[in-house]
Amino acid sequence: MDADVIVIGAGIVGAACAQALAQAGRRVLVLDAAIGGATGAGMGHLVVMDDNAAELELSRHSVAQWRELAPRMSDDCAYSACGTLWIAANDEEMAEAERKQQRLRAHGIGSRLLDARELASAEPALRKGLSGALEVPGDGILYAPNAARWLLTQNTESIRVEHAKVEAIEDDGTLRLADGSRRTAPQVVLANGIQATTLCPELPIRPKKGHLLVTDRYPGTVHHQLVELGYVTSAHHSEGDSVAFNVQPRPTGQLLVGSSRQFDTTDPAVEAPMLARMLQRTLDYLPGLANLNAVRSWTGMRAASPDGLPLLGKHPWREKLWLAVGHEGLGVTTAPGSAHLLAALMTGATPDFDAAPYAPRSLREFA
Ligand SMILES: Cc1cc2nc3c(=O)[nH]c(=O)nc-3n(C[C@H](O)[C@H](O)[C@H](O)COP(=O)(O)OP(=O)(O)OC[C@H]3O[C@@H](n4cnc5c(N)ncnc54)[C@H](O)[C@@H]3O)c2cc1C
Repeated sequence: MDADVIVIGAGIVGAACAQALAQAGRRVLVLDAAIGGATGAGMGHLVVMDDNAAELELSRHSVAQWRELAPRMSDDCAYSACGTLWIAANDEEMAEAERKQQRLRAHGIGSRLLDARELASAEPALRKGLSGALEVPGDGILYAPNAARWLLTQNTESIRVEHAKVEAIEDDGTLRLADGSRRTAPQVVLANGIQATTLCPELPIRPKKGHLLVTDRYPGTVHHQLVELGYVTSAHHSEGDSVAFNVQPRPTGQLLVGSSRQFDTTDPAVEAPMLARMLQRTLDYLPGLANLNAVRSWTGMRAASPDGLPLLGKHPWREKLWLAVGHEGLGVTTAPGSAHLLAALMTGATPDFDAAPYAPRSLREFA
């Protein structure tokens, strides 16, 4: 045996799983092909999302875990407790802000409603005439690739990382690597993001492409992660292409601008019409963006599951295999909670919250 557990993938989810398993006393071997993934492409907004009870539970636990880790994390993880401002453009969205506050309050999450004047004073760069916002101060941001690396450098006596591509998972759970060698362990965790279907074609995971753009340094332009409240309807659930206003103040003073969503394309090219749509949406809220220099734009693929929740738990029929995949656009946020839950299930401990909503039991229905 090469370890107690082998984790396939060293993105934020694989790294968090390795860390949680090491803390539970397991010797962990992490295999990563270094082919890049969503962790290096995403936004790193740590946000409590409340589309449904399971998402709220997982994101709430996870954001709290990130807050606990933050004082110990290396500076290059660039954690910032900037909070989120959910922007209401009209009275209807302001009513939604109030409902959101109630949902969050019911789960012990603090937030504050800002009227139009308070919003204008908190974020003067926003256009005039917005109705207000809901501030969630417990949310934050981090630089996910460095956070993943940091997680893998804790408990180094228990975690070993090997640069290797897994070519196949054999029937008995043995892993065949690209160089022809094999690795085996009593338990294997699949945490290789959008590549999951190359090893397990039965997984119901679809790519959801996103564009991002980063500006030059303009410190103090924006203070919170700014997200339109229409985000939930305009982007999060949509089946078609969509864009939403979503801007993050990087600790460098740069603005990280999102977001777009497109299903069923694996072409990583930046698409000018989609980028233009996304930037137009941003200008609707942040007119001054037109005067800023952009330094780079790129795309990434979110690994989307049918119900938007990650698959966390034992694979229904594959020997030794456990799943930590399908984190879509929330995997940086939900990595610690996912890892806590999976490590508990794998070691026979009781997780802090119910694992049932994320259980991959109905895979066959989607295959
Ligand atoms: C545009 C965009 C914006 C986003 N914004 C946010 C956000 O603001 N907040 C948030 O919480 N989430 C966000 N996300 C989502 C988040 O980035 C992902 O959910 C998360 O990074 C997934 O991490 P992962 O470890 O599962 O996968 P990945 O980061 O994709 O890592 C998979 C790893 O597996 C390795 N691998 C693949 N195949 C193999 C193989 N066969 N053998 C060995 N290794 C292999 C790869 O090299 C890679 O390192 C965003 C995503 C995108 C695309």
